[in-house]
Amino acid sequence: MCADILKLSETLRIFEKTGIEYLHIDIMDGYFVPNFTLGTDYCKALKKATNIPLDIHLMINSPESKLDWFEFGEGDMVSVHAESTDNLREALAAIGKRGAKAYAALNPSTPVSSLDGILDEIDGVLVMAVNPGFAGQKMIPSALGKITEMKRIFKEKGFTDKEIEVDGNVSFENAVKMREAGADIFVAGTSSIFSNDLPLEEGIAKFRKVIG
Ligand code: ZN
Repeated sequence: MCADILKLSETLRIFEKTGIEYLHIDIMDGYFVPNFTLGTDYCKALKKATNIPLDIHLMINSPESKLDWFEFGEGDMVSVHAESTDNLREALAAIGKRGAKAYAALNPSTPVSSLDGILDEIDGVLVMAVNPGFAGQKMIPSALGKITEMKRIFKEKGFTDKEIEVDGNVSFENAVKMREAGADIFVAGTSSIFSNDLPLEEGIAKFRKVIG
């Protein structure tokens, strides 16, 4: 949602050239979050246009009933919010069944303990550093503590292959702190590579440098 939609082909070629690992797609339904963004056709078009895997971030109510609307499979990842459904386990299992990585997403006010009992079902956790809905917000500092806590729990339970993704105000400065806290996957948006301070390619190079 941070990319210039009218220059998307150009952007995709730069992403391919620079080895971007995933395309993070923010899907909003106007209910779970107060905004509309991208949808099913957009994901379909991206699938056709590039081989870069999709990272579909579903900010929609009852995602388990809408997973079939989306094209994804082996190599892709899909996040569903713990707050968006009473059937989180079912939603995660349905994603895994299609060969994609299943991530549980947590809003800033949702504690890590809400994932107790389903950690075996997830490939990772998406920690929101802002309240989802709009780009351009400031990081809520407690997100860093949440990343650290999640990392500790994964380690304690021996889940060494589960990863932590962080989304929201992942600026060059904040990315360093998020990395130190234990984040593995970083969603770069308007506060870093799409800030227009630098050409996209240079922004990506700078981002890779700061996360080491
Ligand atoms: Zn997102």
